[in-house]
Amino acid sequence: MIMHTFSCSNGHINEKLVKMDTKEVECPDCDQIATKVIGCPKIKTDSWKSTRKWAKQRETQVKYERKHGITLQT
Ligand SMILES: [Zn+2]
Repeated sequence: MIMHTFSCSNGHINEKLVKMDTKEVECPDCDQIATKVIGCPKIKTDSWKSTRKWAKQRETQVKYERKHGITLQT
């Protein structure tokens, strides 16, 4: 079993644990056929960027919380 990224015709991106030779799965969001995304660097770059962005926002928020002695809901 291996983790693969699948994309359906509606643009949903999902990661699934599947057999090595699995090429298609059913999209959990819309039940359409989702095909395997092979080594898509764009998606990886985007998720990396958004992870960094999130980390930066979180950092800012933590500083704010400490300063004001409160905890904000995320
Ligand atoms: Zn879908």
